[in-house]
Amino acid sequence: MTTTTRESYDQVMMPNYAPGDVIPVRGSGSRVWDQAGREYIDFAGGIAVTALGHAHPALVSALTEQAGKLWHTSNVMATEPAVVLAEKLCNATFADRVFFCNSGTEANEAALKLARRYSHTNFGPQKDLIIAFDNAFHGRSLLNISVGGQPSYREGFGPLPGSITHLPFNDVAALEETFNSLSDTVCAVIVEPIQGEGGVLDAEPEFMQAIRRLCDEHQALMVLDEVQTGVGRTGKLYAHEWYDVKPDILATAKALGGGFPIGATLATAQVSEVFKVGTHGSTYGGNPLACAVATAAFDLINTPEVLQGVTHRRAMLVKGLQEISDRFDVFQAIRGQGLLIGCVVTDNWSGRAREFLLASQDAGVLTLMAGSDVLRLAPSLIIPETDIKEGLERLEGAVATLCAGEDKAASS
Ligand SMILES: *Cc1c(COP(=O)(O)O)cnc(C)c1O
Repeated sequence: MTTTTRESYDQVMMPNYAPGDVIPVRGSGSRVWDQAGREYIDFAGGIAVTALGHAHPALVSALTEQAGKLWHTSNVMATEPAVVLAEKLCNATFADRVFFCNSGTEANEAALKLARRYSHTNFGPQKDLIIAFDNAFHGRSLLNISVGGQPSYREGFGPLPGSITHLPFNDVAALEETFNSLSDTVCAVIVEPIQGEGGVLDAEPEFMQAIRRLCDEHQALMVLDEVQTGVGRTGKLYAHEWYDVKPDILATAKALGGGFPIGATLATAQVSEVFKVGTHGSTYGGNPLACAVATAAFDLINTPEVLQGVTHRRAMLVKGLQEISDRFDVFQAIRGQGLLIGCVVTDNWSGRAREFLLASQDAGVLTLMAGSDVLRLAPSLIIPETDIKEGLERLEGAVATLCAGEDKAASS
């Protein structure tokens, strides 16, 4: 017996989301079941979060084991799970120090505060400019919507934090020009290796390398927002490893907890130095439950089998998506890396990616959008091959239904 309905949601929830009619109640691996017992293949991964699928036994066991031991002390005390996870992150990345928080927004907030503090301490308050990019998404705090490159997310929330400028993504010349004219004032550049919410748009290697070079030349910090691209999503632990650059600061969240809320800001020792006692903090950050689950997830994901499996699974998915498009002419490009996949719809479907998402859901496969022109997939990194095949079949059915409806509309 269930009394929760889509209507009861509207009675009590603020109207800032628009969930569909399906209410999932259970998940296992890459399958999800709704209230009516209907089964779906999960190509969405809770927006690139459930990187090991649903109810992975290792995560369930890490969570329940920790749940019986210690839930919370706050950061007035050190706890074992936080230190263990931080050691693993430092050993596996460029970073020497970690700050834990609870979301991607908070990880970026800490990253940018750290950058501002570093510049202020070492060069003075005039070096405060943050360079960000059009269409970037960094979260929903006031600072993050200001740094993000989607003006609609800022509308009606002013006054906003200042000394932030936006440049076109992948435009090396614009970046050079800005650095050359504003050199002494540039504090940091923040960038996503692949713009996720902005449409699954890959940064070009020359662009990422130019950011690194210009930051070095002008004593600015390179901040990577790897909230969506991190923790194995692209087939490397972090996406910047594909580009042969190292950041000074990196924000990670989403897949880090495999579905349990956790975020982290990673940095070099030199930069971290300026976060003296009392400069920043979080009550829940580094919570033992979150860190225990994230450690179990990290141990599973940071292995050659899983990371190479991502590349293999991408190849299967891209091939299937290409075949669907060859038959129905629906996608003009398939972008992204690893299991962050963006299918850009053809011009005749422009602005209608949501129709693909809804038709897919009707056909029993969960997908995402990235703007109104891109159907986005971000499944579990260990999604079984049989689920990929069946999910593609269902997706093909959905596209066939959509196109049949279109033909009918055209001929009537
Ligand atoms: C999702 C996302 C965020 C925000 O993370 P939250 O956990 O929703 O606060 C920030 N940056 C990027 C690139 C993201 O994809």
